[in-house]
Order: sequence, then structure tokens, then C-alpha cells
Amino acid sequence: MRNIALVDVNNFYVSCERVFNPHLINKPVVVLSNNDGCAVARSNEVKKLGIGMGAPWFKFKELANQHGIVALSSNYALYADMSNRVMSILREFSPHQEVYSIDESFLDVTGFQSLNLVEYAQSMRARILQWTGLPVCVGIGSTKTLAKLANYCAKKIERFNGVCNFNSMQEEELHKLFECIPVSEVWGIGRKMAPQLEALGFNHVRALQRSDPKMMRNKFSVTMEKTIRELNGTMCIELEERHRTKQQIVSSRSFGIPVRDFSSLSESVTLYVSRAAVKLRQQASFAGSIYVYIRTSPFNEKDPFYSNGLTIPIPSPTDDTKQLVRLALWALRKIYKAGYNYQKAGVMLSELVPREGIQTSLFSDSTLLDQSGNLMMVMDSINKKMGKGSLKLASEGFRKPWKMRQENKSPCYTTNWQDLIKLESISPRNQVTKDGYLRMKNSHLPKLSSAEQAAPRLHPGIPVIARNRITSTDC
Ligand SMILES: [Mg+2]
Repeated sequence: MRNIALVDVNNFYVSCERVFNPHLINKPVVVLSNNDGCAVARSNEVKKLGIGMGAPWFKFKELANQHGIVALSSNYALYADMSNRVMSILREFSPHQEVYSIDESFLDVTGFQSLNLVEYAQSMRARILQWTGLPVCVGIGSTKTLAKLANYCAKKIERFNGVCNFNSMQEEELHKLFECIPVSEVWGIGRKMAPQLEALGFNHVRALQRSDPKMMRNKFSVTMEKTIRELNGTMCIELEERHRTKQQIVSSRSFGIPVRDFSSLSESVTLYVSRAAVKLRQQASFAGSIYVYIRTSPFNEKDPFYSNGLTIPIPSPTDDTKQLVRLALWALRKIYKAGYNYQKAGVMLSELVPREGIQTSLFSDSTLLDQSGNLMMVMDSINKKMGKGSLKLASEGFRKPWKMRQENKSPCYTTNWQDLIKLESISPRNQVTKDGYLRMKNSHLPKLSSAEQAAPRLHPGIPVIARNRITSTDC
């Protein structure tokens, strides 16, 4: 039997915020989407208040005031960095890992039968909590679908204490458990399919598990058949250990304020192309076409609506930001109409081909291709070292008044030197201040060598001060 573990961070975005701001612990916290529009992450306290995923912020502002809900703008730089730390810790627990999403990872622990897998999973939880401050739950099953379901149980049922291993449970016990779980909780079923299944009498997971996979395939799809077989322990969906290269790269944002002028639109399009081009180079691809679109708000009935987009084929595929921006701005000029309040712009790179063995056109100059590759490499390495946007095209602009609204964004504690949590040195005694910062007497500060002073502390774990729950023994 296979042992597949699914490790999932609890309320990921909210938990990341709580690591650096412990005042948020046990408080209702919600993280909002771009432009502070909708709820994209909720703490358990917010879930209990009945605020759904994707609920628009303006609709529950009053409820938020009543219950003291803390609303934060999304801080994707922080979440991505914390995710990398969690994934790299998990890699030490199994050589077979699939990073499934920003906060979920499958691990194949089939070769670990000699260990007590529940204890092993508890040690994962403890290490992730100690090194990053993030709480996770672990589900173990013989297939990915069962591992997902076990993770759901680990989160929802207290007696499992964060780890649920279906493979160590008796069949009868499992069947009883499955009779209590709605079908909507099965991976791949979702809220859309669940009512259809319920209408046919499949009210819980056990009923679905007992159904005839072939008959269900005819009624629904081959995916449904796979789901049912997986629920019965037949592995139909293998771990994808290698990162899939994307077939399309999209970069788009809504503006913080309506944009009317061409120059602001061209600044935003330059920025989006630059971001997409970085991702393109990261996966060693070239783009064979670029699509640019702009639109006004479809919800604003007072203003006239306009939406348009244009695709441009690229005869010699490229990953050069300058070339891509030139093409995108040409397309923007074609679709731009003055007099409208634009609310969103975006670009999509498609027809992606691997950089290796690229087919150039008859007239392309290989020297120019090399020069462009070198320039992009330098640009990317400077931006990696000095921070995003340190080196950029001037057409991206500098003030960017159209930038999306993020009124309550937390600092990028782990990715920006300016945002590092500060230790304050005061006398006469060590204290933990009201806001959780550690204050130390000068004499208590550890003496660092000059090399240590210069070196960034990018240990996968967050320094203990980041938890802010400091006792005098930590000093
Ligand atoms: Mg999660």
C-alpha cells in the first residue's frame, strides 16, 4: 500500500501575518484580494462569523466593525517566501515531493513503513512550527484523494491532533468516518458538482465510495471514475514531482483609481510585461505571441463600457523584456480609445517554446540574440540581488498613481532589508514591549563577527524574535 501524505498550512495567509504580528492571534483576521476587494483568507474566528470565501469587503465592513475584524491587504511577497521555507523543510522528510499549491505539498512516504507515520507527521508539524511559526495539518492515505480527505479530517476533528492517517485505521472505523463527511469535501468534486451528486442520493463520502465507477464515468466523466477509484485505494493520480512549465503566462491587475490617459496605461502594461517576462525566463521559455487587453469596469453603470484586446504573433520567439514591451505598447496604441475610465489592463504571453533549440527566423541575427540574453541575465541578477524593480524600463514610470490599493499591507519582513523586524537596544533591563518587540540591554546583545554582521540570516526558519513571544531565556 502507498503512503501519501498531504501537508497543508492552516489558514495560510492569515497564519503568515500572525507569525510577525502576534497581536493577531485569536483575533478575527481577514486577508483581502488585490485592491482590497474580497476576502481571500479568513481566520477561524472570521469563518465562524459566517463570512464566506470571496465575500466583498464593502459588504461586511459593518460586521467587521462590530466584531473588531482586522482586515489586511494581501502581501504576496511574504506569502511566497514563507511558502518556499515550508516546502524546503518538507523536502527533508521525503525525496518525493509535489508542491501542489502555495500552502500544500504531497509527500510520498511509502518507503517509511518502519516508522510510526503519525509520529513522523507530528515531527513535520513541530519542525515547521518551530522554524517558520506556521501551523500545519497532515493527512495520510493510500492515494492523493484519500490524503486530501485525511487532511480535512486532521483539521476538523480535534481528536486527531493535526495528523490523520487513514492507512492505520480499521476499515469499519473509516467507513463510519466517511458517512459523516459531505461529498463536497472530496478532492475534485467541489461545490458545483456536489448538489448533482446529492440529488442522486450520494449524500456522504461513503456513498460515493461504494458507487460503480464505470456507471459514474458514463453519467459524469472520466475524472469522476478516477475519484471513486482513488477513494477505494487505487492510485490513479500520480505525484507530479517535476515542476510543470506553464503554457501561458498572464499578468494583470485592476487599478487603484480609474485611468484615462494613455501614458498611465502604457506604464501599467510595461510593468505587467516586465513581470511576465521574468517568469518566462525563469522557466527557460520564449514567447511566440503576446496578447494585451484593457477594459473599463463592467459594474459601473454610470460610465460607458469598453473592452478590447489584441494578439500579436512574434515571428522570432523571444524572452527579451524590451522587445516584448515594444510589441505590447504597439498593440495598446491600436486598442486604446480616449475618454474612457479604464479599470484594468493585462497581458498574456503564449505559444511558449523551450529556450533550447529555439527556431529563429531567416533574418534574425544570432549576435543580437546573445546580447539580449546577456542583458536580461544581468537585469534579472541585479533585481534578484537588489530587490524587485531596482533595474527596470523607464516606460514603467516612477510615481504610478494607478497602482492597486493596498491600504493595510504588512511589511515584507523576509524579503526586504528595510522591512526587517528591528531589535531595540535600551537600558536598564531587558523588556518585552507592549507590541511584542524585544528590548535588550547593550551588554546582552550577542557579539557578531564582521562576517556574521554582513551575512543575511536566511535560515529556513524565522529568527526567534520574529515570533515576538519572547521570554528572558531566549536572550
Ligand atoms: Mg491551507
